[in-house]
Order: sequence, then structure tokens, then C-alpha cells
Amino acid sequence: MKVIGLIGGMSWESSVEYYRIINEEVKRRLGGLHSARCLLYSVDFEEIERYQSEGDWKKAGEILGDVAHSLEKAGADFIIICTNTMHKVIGDIQEKINIPILHIADATALQIKKKGITSVGLLGTRYTMEQDFYKLRLESNGIKVLIPNDDERKIVNKVIYEELCLGKVQQTSRDYYKKVIQGLIDTGAKAIVLGCTEIGLLINQEDSDVPLFDTTYIHALEAANLSIKK
Ligand code: GLU
Repeated sequence: MKVIGLIGGMSWESSVEYYRIINEEVKRRLGGLHSARCLLYSVDFEEIERYQSEGDWKKAGEILGDVAHSLEKAGADFIIICTNTMHKVIGDIQEKINIPILHIADATALQIKKKGITSVGLLGTRYTMEQDFYKLRLESNGIKVLIPNDDERKIVNKVIYEELCLGKVQQTSRDYYKKVIQGLIDTGAKAIVLGCTEIGLLINQEDSDVPLFDTTYIHALEAANLSIKK
């Protein structure tokens, strides 16, 4: 079994899910008392979020690059970054290590393509929804990406940082997300990408009339796959 190196803590609420999903999948596939060989380096999200909001992505990338390097030294065979947003600095992280990083958007695009879907609505942080680093990765796989309007994006983003990353799951926010999802469907989305690793704590399949692609679940499962692949 290969050792998975998880860069987590962004937020820890979703890192817990990664740890659970990966271990459940390894147990399901290998049986008995099998569990995942993995290393989790959980950062202080307060610090990373400060660099995000100051626009100092270089500094954030440096920190995560050092984390990845520590994981490699500790024996990780490959890395997963347990947040969609911080894939913005995947290049800075990769530069510091000699092991591969399993990209969350590539794993997600693969599942979307398997279902033959070519148009999705994207929910995530404002960085993920508005900037190119994530959308282009999906679009380069032939997937059209629709995003909510300005006002909706502000609230979707606020719910992530001020509620979900703090472990608060509120019905009013769930109702709001459902409205946003319906809006994306009305403008042509044939599926919705939960492009933030905490959204799965709020929304599940019964909240949407079209298929949901939960990036946490997809990414964690792909990591488990890669780890046990012969
Ligand atoms: N976990 C979130 C994501 O998947 C947001 C937290 C962050 O900014 O990293 O994008």
C-alpha cells in the first residue's frame, strides 16, 4: 500500500471527512482490519486564510510547499491537498517535492466525463468560482462551467468561511444553497460540482435535482484507489 500524504486543516472540518472516507474505502476494498497508510499534516488555517485574503498566495504556497516537503521526507508516496482553493498554488507546492500531487479538479473531471456530462454549475470559495486556476482545469476536459451571480457568490463564500469551516451547519444556509443550485440548473447546468471541501457537510444529493459531484468524496476515494493499486 502506498502512503498518502494529506495536506489538511483547510479546514479541519473537511480533513476529518478525508480521513474517514479514505479509511472506509481501504477497509471496504481490502477487508479485515486493513486501514489506510497515511500521513496528515494539518496546518493552522487562520494563518493560511490571512494570506488568502491579503492576496499573498506566494507566501501561502511557500508554507504548503514546506508542508509537502515534510510529508515527502516522512515517507509519503504522493500528496493530496485537502482543499480546492489551495490548488491555486499547486505549482509552488510541486516545485518543492519529487512525488506527485493528485489534483482535485482532475479527479472530479474524470468522474464528470464518465457520466457523459458536459455542463456543470460550480460552487466554492470566491477564489475557486471567480478565478481561472480551477475552472480552466475543468474546461480543459471539455466541461462547460457555470457560476452563480455576484451576490450569490458573496453569500456562498461567506457561508464557507463563517459557518462551514467553523463547524456550523445551518438550515437557512442550506435553503440558500438549494436556491443557488436551482438557478444554475435553470441556466443549463446538468450537474453541480461541490468545489469546496466543506460543502458536502451542508448539501447532499437530495438537495439537488441534478447529480452532485462532491470533490471531497471523489478526491478521497481516488487517493484510496491510488494507494492500494498494485
Ligand atoms: N476547503 C475549502 C475549499 O475546498 C475552502 C477553504 C480554503 O480556502 O482552503 O476550497
